[in-house]
Amino acid sequence: MIQASGLRKQYGETAALDGVDLHVRKGEIFGVLGQSGAGKSTLLRCVNLLERPDAGTVTVDGQDLTRLGNRELNQARQRIGMIHQHFALLSSRTVAGNVAFPLEVMGVPRAERERRVAELLDLVGLGGRGNDRPRQLSGGQKQRVGIARALAGNPAVLLSDEATSALDPATTDSILALLKRLNTELGLTILLITHEMNVVKAVCDSVAIMSGGRIEESGTIAGLIRTP
Ligand code: ADP
Ligand code: ADP
Repeated sequence: MIQASGLRKQYGETAALDGVDLHVRKGEIFGVLGQSGAGKSTLLRCVNLLERPDAGTVTVDGQDLTRLGNRELNQARQRIGMIHQHFALLSSRTVAGNVAFPLEVMGVPRAERERRVAELLDLVGLGGRGNDRPRQLSGGQKQRVGIARALAGNPAVLLSDEATSALDPATTDSILALLKRLNTELGLTILLITHEMNVVKAVCDSVAIMSGGRIEESGTIAGLIRTP
């Protein structure tokens, strides 16, 4: 579902990505684990071309994104949802307004948009909270809004940028359980980055360990944990 080959990204003297290959299979939860500065978030931003790699290719759902112009890229990105550590919600909009935002950008008509928003809020356990403002929600609820918004375009892939790092352990568990449920029920492929081994152990099928802009090891979670 996601195939990255030979990714390089240089910031001045720093090789944030120093030749990264990644293969995420359809329907799996793939974790990239590494310490701060390892290059994880650069990798994630290169996967949806928020950042253009200096070299290498990124193919998502059969489409090589590195060959696309800006217009085609915007189209392709609708099939790639993303969630963020600090949620990135619009504070001036309601919960429903946040979830509706990508649908507005796509030009989905109002009636259909409202039906879809209600359905998405139900899916993440926030039915009835559509008219609240983000500031009225807990961290976990805010992340649920982020997830609903990320799913609005019916993406093939969800990218998660440290989505539970700002949450307490119990809330982390509930968000991870939601991601696992979406993975199982919708067949959603998830690529997540984290610095927390417990996140990887809780939900990932496969894992890559990243350090210094390189992937040091990768494999199934069972295989890597067994390795001394
Ligand atoms: P991680 O997500 O694993 O913490 P990052 O991808 O954020 O790692 O960063 C990898 C390396 O690239 C770090 O040394 C970081 O300082 C550097 N870096 C990342 N983004 C930029 C940028 N926009 N400008 C300069 N250096 C950057
Ligand atoms: P905001 O104050 O967040 O801007 P708006 O009423 O302007 O709220 O609505 C923004 C978007 O959210 C619109 O696309 C609208 O269709 C949708 N929307 C607003 N309230 C609801 C709701 N309760 N259920 C579903 N969709 C809603």
